[in-house]
Amino acid sequence: MVARAGLLTAVLMAALTPGVANAQQRPVSLVLTPRQTADPTLLATEARVPGAIDPLTGVRSPMRKDWIGLRTVSPNTPILVMAGHADSQGIAGSGTSGEAVGLLGAAPMMRGITDEHYWNLVLAHAVATLGRERGLRIDFYKPPVRTIVDPDHPGTNWSVGRDHAQADGYAFEIHFDAYGPSGVGSGLIPPLHRPFSRIDESLAQEFGAYPMNFRDRLGAPKRGVAILELGKLEGRLEASLRDPATRQRTIRLLADRVVTALEIGLGRRPTGSTPAQVSSQPAAGRIAPPALGRPASSAGE
Ligand SMILES: [Zn+2]
Repeated sequence: MVARAGLLTAVLMAALTPGVANAQQRPVSLVLTPRQTADPTLLATEARVPGAIDPLTGVRSPMRKDWIGLRTVSPNTPILVMAGHADSQGIAGSGTSGEAVGLLGAAPMMRGITDEHYWNLVLAHAVATLGRERGLRIDFYKPPVRTIVDPDHPGTNWSVGRDHAQADGYAFEIHFDAYGPSGVGSGLIPPLHRPFSRIDESLAQEFGAYPMNFRDRLGAPKRGVAILELGKLEGRLEASLRDPATRQRTIRLLADRVVTALEIGLGRRPTGSTPAQVSSQPAAGRIAPPALGRPASSAGE
């Protein structure tokens, strides 16, 4: 699709806002708390039960997981990642404004789009970029315009994702959930076009799960497109994204968790590290980029 994912990200970042572009030029700094150093009992029980609080992404979906993904897939399964609400800006279903804008009076990250869509775009790009660096067959798709009224128009996320899923690929949208009581929490809403896969299961293990028929089968899942809610756009997660000092690290941590879950679901050996915790403190003295594998090509762009 595009030869260089790093360049793609740089172009998108530059197009979004100068602030994001500048953030991309900051050195990548990560607080790494590798999975193996975390308390396995905590991970196995408290941290992964429905409704548990994740230090980075907040509450996991407390809803019942009434499905299990057992279908194995090829390690070379082509993956398509998309930004939620990419074709519904300015109309119904444009995504959450986030707590900062909706409740606390902050300015939107970018005029004309919801803060959720803004972060969906940033994270979908980061996941595609990091996934390629780790050798996954992963592409990013963005509709040509931000508003397409007909959900079955051939250029919508749903249509392109449906075609990708029908061709034995894995298609999913990145989302952030609503703040406050109308949001549920992080988790995967699995695609419904065929038996649930190991990729579905792996993403659900990492982020939590929604019931298979959540909200009477949403438009994306019934077309074969998974919805991955990374977390409610509120509190510490949103603050970490908005703060230029922690933004790049937060994006990287989230993308790393998604890519690692994809690797596991594909039956590959995870090549990065999935930090179990993120600190709100600067990462001075605890930076260990080599543990993440090859450095991000987008980090200096
Ligand atoms: Zn959404």
